[in-house]
Amino acid sequence: MDLNDTPEQAAYRQKVREWLEANRQSAPSKSGSYEDPRYVDARRAWQRRLAEAGLAGVTWPREYGGQGLGPIEQVTLNQEISRADVPGILDVIGIGMLGPCLIAHGSEEQKARYLGPMLHGDEVWCQLFSEPAAGSDLAAVQTRARPQEDGSWLLSGQKVWTTNAQFAAYGLLLARTDPDVPKHKGLTMFVVPMDARGVVVRGLRQISGEAEFNEVFFDDVRLDADTVVGGVGNGWGTALTVLMFERLTIGFGSETYGSPSRLSAAIGADPDARGDLVVRRRLGEIVGELLAVRFNGYRALTALSRGQIPGPEAGLAKVTMVNAAIAAADLATDVIGPDALAESNRWSYLTSFLPGLKSAGGTEQILRNTIGERVLGLPPEPRLDKGIPFSELRAREKEASVS
Ligand SMILES: Cc1cc2nc3c(=O)[nH]c(=O)nc-3n(C[C@H](O)[C@H](O)[C@H](O)COP(=O)(O)OP(=O)(O)OC[C@H]3O[C@@H](n4cnc5c(N)ncnc54)[C@H](O)[C@@H]3O)c2cc1C
Repeated sequence: MDLNDTPEQAAYRQKVREWLEANRQSAPSKSGSYEDPRYVDARRAWQRRLAEAGLAGVTWPREYGGQGLGPIEQVTLNQEISRADVPGILDVIGIGMLGPCLIAHGSEEQKARYLGPMLHGDEVWCQLFSEPAAGSDLAAVQTRARPQEDGSWLLSGQKVWTTNAQFAAYGLLLARTDPDVPKHKGLTMFVVPMDARGVVVRGLRQISGEAEFNEVFFDDVRLDADTVVGGVGNGWGTALTVLMFERLTIGFGSETYGSPSRLSAAIGADPDARGDLVVRRRLGEIVGELLAVRFNGYRALTALSRGQIPGPEAGLAKVTMVNAAIAAADLATDVIGPDALAESNRWSYLTSFLPGLKSAGGTEQILRNTIGERVLGLPPEPRLDKGIPFSELRAREKEASVS
């Protein structure tokens, strides 16, 4: 592909750059705490302004408030936001992953009710998928939704690692509705109001000091019949749509983490580091990896702009990008020294936050498995649970752990 902007893309970039230049002074800081409600409100207000300027939901169809543009414009916007050094939207999970899932699988009523407030930051969403015993093996979720005579559902169980649940208005939740069929079949997706009776959110503090994740408990939460998204028993297909958009969102966002120029600037500011051969070698290796990821990413973009879905090789970009970003933060903190521990120092935050990205959106090992099986054609892992009802799997696991 031609790596230069076409005249139309250049005009789009210019328009975005001018808006950001004109508004950046009034943007909130990038490094506030999500535990401070004033900071969350400021980020909501910023998202609203971005949405009103057409700079949120860029790839959403116009009929749902988006711009109907393509992935190239989304990447251009991310690059310009990173260049302007301002925060992007607050609800990356909602707009990047859950909104597109509602657009693909939701009813017209659900789209009319939820998409507008999501886009404008009035209602933030969270992704209620992972559980203590269901992460990589997501189809093993045990949170149960039981049908009631009046058509409603009773929900009970637990989710974990739920980003933004502490201030989310709604969550998209994967629950087991039929344990007597194989595990991928008995699942259903629901919209859960986070203020419903029986929903309890508990924060989990990370090593970075932040509490962005939560455990969420459901104790006989009543859900109306119209909270089902994509049909009863179709939860796995609906979840796959979210996971596909999750990979794309992480890929599109890589401009923020994979910026060699910022690392070079941090190192270049230190005269000793500038001349240190070991530092220069480490820097060269990292910049080489980050540039390779960026140019590889353009292949995925080419596929997307032709209406194709990037293949499983795209997973390699996530593994490489995250490892290079971790190495970059380590190098920057080595060069900066103890000052990097200052709370205001973004590199120290990245040092503690980035390793978590090895797990988010598919762990490194799972992605390597996928690449081994689907790109390199290696033999697949044995799958002992194929075709067996979920309820029997649980019983077999219990028997195995007793014997
Ligand atoms: C920053 C961040 C944000 C997140 N936000 C959310 C969120 O908002 N909502 C949500 O639902 N979840 C969220 N998650 C959870 C995330 O989806 C899970 O961490 C991920 O799916 C892995 O699941 P797990 O943590 O249970 O690890 P496990 O699946 O238990 O894996 C543990 C280890 O075993 C390895 N492993 C597992 N199976 C295999 C295998 N077959 N072969 C080889 N190795 C294997 C894994 O690679 C990993 O190293 C978030 C996680 C992070 C880090």
